[in-house]
Amino acid sequence: MTMRYSFSLNPEERRQKRSVSTQKHRDLKELKDDVNKTIEIRKELLISERRNAHQRKEKIRICQELRPLALPRHVVTIDTSKSRSNMDVLRMCARKLGWKEFPLGRKDQSCDIYWNAVHFEENLDISSGKVSKFPGMHEICSKITLFRCLDRMRELFPDEYNFYPKSWYLPTQFHEFAYEIKQHRNQRTRPKPTYIVKPDDGTQGEGIYLIRDPQEYIVQSNRCHVIQEYLSNVYLIDKFKFDLRVYVVITNLEPLQIHICKEGLVRFSTIPYENPTHRNIHETYMHLTNYSLNKRSSMFNRSDKEDEGSKRKLSSVLRKLSQQGHDTQALWNNLERLICKTILAIVPEMKVEYQSALPAGKPGPSCFQILGFDILLMKNLKPMLLEVNSSPSLRIDCEQETSPGVMEYVQSLKDEEVKCPLVRDTLLYVAPPHKMKYRRKKRKPKKKQELKSENLHLRPRRGTIIIINADESDEEKRVRDITQRMSDIERFNRNSSPECKDEDQTEKEEKSDCEDDAKTRTSEDSDSDYEIVDKTPKETCLKLIYPDLYEDDYEELRMLEKLAAIFIQTLGIRGAQRIGPTAFRTFSRKCRLNRHGMTNAAIDILFIDMQRKWEHLNPERTTGLCFQGFLDACYEIARRTFFSQDKFEMMDSFINYCKSNLQVSTTTGEHSQLPKLRDRRLYQRSPYFYMPKNSFLHLTSETIYNLPIGGRNCKLPSSSEIQPRRLSLGKLHTRHGRKSGMSYGEE
Ligand code: ADP
Repeated sequence: MTMRYSFSLNPEERRQKRSVSTQKHRDLKELKDDVNKTIEIRKELLISERRNAHQRKEKIRICQELRPLALPRHVVTIDTSKSRSNMDVLRMCARKLGWKEFPLGRKDQSCDIYWNAVHFEENLDISSGKVSKFPGMHEICSKITLFRCLDRMRELFPDEYNFYPKSWYLPTQFHEFAYEIKQHRNQRTRPKPTYIVKPDDGTQGEGIYLIRDPQEYIVQSNRCHVIQEYLSNVYLIDKFKFDLRVYVVITNLEPLQIHICKEGLVRFSTIPYENPTHRNIHETYMHLTNYSLNKRSSMFNRSDKEDEGSKRKLSSVLRKLSQQGHDTQALWNNLERLICKTILAIVPEMKVEYQSALPAGKPGPSCFQILGFDILLMKNLKPMLLEVNSSPSLRIDCEQETSPGVMEYVQSLKDEEVKCPLVRDTLLYVAPPHKMKYRRKKRKPKKKQELKSENLHLRPRRGTIIIINADESDEEKRVRDITQRMSDIERFNRNSSPECKDEDQTEKEEKSDCEDDAKTRTSEDSDSDYEIVDKTPKETCLKLIYPDLYEDDYEELRMLEKLAAIFIQTLGIRGAQRIGPTAFRTFSRKCRLNRHGMTNAAIDILFIDMQRKWEHLNPERTTGLCFQGFLDACYEIARRTFFSQDKFEMMDSFINYCKSNLQVSTTTGEHSQLPKLRDRRLYQRSPYFYMPKNSFLHLTSETIYNLPIGGRNCKLPSSSEIQPRRLSLGKLHTRHGRKSGMSYGEE
C-alpha cells in the first residue's frame, strides 16, 4: 500500500505567503531607492561643496586683486606685469622688502610702482604712481640722437664735451666722412686710422664692423649708421680689452636728480687685444667687448672669482688699477662728471617728451629710470663714452652649456651682487615716502627646530639650475629660491662691508623677520600689523651726484633747457611735439626778431628749410618742426642776429633776448624749476646790450626781464663772417615709428 502526501496550501496560506514576499520585495526596492537617493544627495553635496570652495577661492582672489582695502595701507605695491626679463630681480627685491607684487597687473591701476622693461608707453592707463621709464627715452638714447645731442653741446662747450669719439651719421654725412679719411691720407697719418660702424638701432654688438676705407661701408637702405673713430689706444688688463658698465639712476626730472651706482660690471673681450690691422680687423672677440657676443666664444671665462673671468665687478677692477698705482678716485670723479654732462645734454629732449606725454596740470604718474653707461678706458685712464642703454640688462642669470649642446640658465653670482642692490635701492628711493615710514611688526620667531627643518626643505643647493619661463607648478619653488638667494646676497654684502658689521645682530633679526614675512604674508594682514620705523637709512649703493656735487659747476650746461621751455610754451597745445608755421611766426613776432632783421619772409623760409632738413623724423608727414629742428632754427637765427665767434655767447645772448620778450614763466608750473639764471653775468657778457655794465649791479633778475633790449644797436654780421652751412638730411628712420621688434636688456 502506497502512502500519498499532499503539500498543497490552502488559499489563505497561499495569500499570506504571497503578501509576505511582495512586502519583502517592496522593502528591498525602497532600500535600494534610499541608497540611490543618499548617493545622489552625497554627490550633490560634494559638487556644491566644491563649487563653494571654488567660489570662495575666486572671491579671495578678486578681493586681493580688486579691492585696495584688502591690502594694508602701508604696503608698497609694485606692478611687474611689463617687467619681462627684469621679473626675477624685481621679485627678489619685492620679497625682501616685504612689498606686494602684482605679476599680472592690478585691474584698478593703483600700484605705487610700475616696472616697464622697455618703454614708458607700454602702460598708458596709469594716472598715478611711478613708472620705471621716462617717455621717449628709448629714442633719445638711440646712437644717432644721443651723439647728435652731445655734438650740439660740443659746439657750445668744446672743452667739456671731449669724452666721446668723433662721430658721423650715415648715409647723410657720408661725404664729410669720406673727406675726413682723405685728409688723413693726404697727411700720411700713421698708423692708418680705423673707424667703427654701428647700426643706429643695433644692440648687443649686432651689425658692428670696423673699416679703414669709406668704400668698405655697406649701405643698407632701411638702416642708418653711426661711424666713429675707433679708439685703439685703450687700457688693457691681462692683455684683454674691456669696457665698463656703469649704472645710473635718474629719480626725478624736475628738479633733476642723478644717482650713480657704486658697483658696476666690467666686460672683457676673449681674444688678447692688438691694434687694428688689415689682418685682425674682423676679429669680433678681440675688438668688441659685449657680453652677449663674447659669451659664445670658446675662450669665455665663467669664473666666479673676484679677479678672474670675462665678466667682473667694477670694484674688483678698480682695486686692481689701484694696486697698479693708478689714482682710482680721480678716475671715479671723471666717470661722475662724464655721466652728469651726458645726462645734461639729453635733458632738454627729455623735457619736451615728458611734457608731451604728461602735460603739466594733467594727472599722471611720475618717472624714474635706470640707465647703463658703456665706457671705455683709454691708456691714460681717461673714460670715453660709447653708448647709453635705456634698458640695461637686469638679468641675474646667465646661459651656460651644462652638457654638450644643452644650454641652461644658471644663476650668476656677480650679476646678482651688482643688480639686486641696484634695483632694491632704486625701489627704496622711488617708493612713496609715507609708506616707507612703516614696517611690518615682528612676528613671534618660529621654534628653532621648526625653522631648521623648514629651511632644510626649502634651501636650494648653490649652483642649482633655475628654469627660466617655468610653468605654474615651478612657480613656488622659484619664489622660494629667489628669496633664499636674496638673503645670501645680503649676507655676502654685509660681511664684505666693515661698517655694517655692528648692526649684524639686529640685521639678522630683521632678515629672518622679512623672510618670514615674505613666506607668511597673506591678504589678512592689516594696518595694525605695521609700526612706524624711526631709523636712519641703511647704507645704499646709490650716490646722489646731481644736484649735490655738480650743480654749481654745470649750471651753464643747462642753457638749452631754456630753449626747451620756450619750445614747450610756443607749442601751446597740450601733448603736441611739433611747432607749426604759424606758431613759429608767432614765436618770432613775440621775440621781436624783426628788430634784428628777421623779416616774416626770412622766418617762413627758415621754417621750410628746417622742416625739410628734419623731415626724416616725421614719417606721418604732419606739418611742423620737431624740437631738434627748432634748436637748429634757433642756432641759425642766433647766427644771423647775435653773431659772435664764441658760440656760447652767441646762443646765450639770443636765448636771453627771447626770454626777456617772451616772459617765459619762471615762477609757476613746469618751468619753475628751470636752471637759475645768472642774468646779470649773462647780460654783461652780451656785446649787443647797450646799458653800462655797472648799472646791472643794482638790478634784480626781474627788472632785467622788463628792460628794453637795444635791438637797434645790433649790427648784423657781414656775409664774409657767416660760414655757409650744409643742410644734411639726417637719419632716415622714424622717431616714434621705429622698428617695433626692438630688443631690450642690453649688455
Ligand atoms: P652695442 O649697442 O651694439 O653694444 P656699442 O656702442 O656698445 O654697441 O659697441 C659695442 C662694442 O664695440 C663696445 O663694447 C666696445 O668694445 C666696442 N666699441 C664701440 N665703439 C668703439 C670705439 N669708438 N672704439 C673702440 N671700441 C668701440
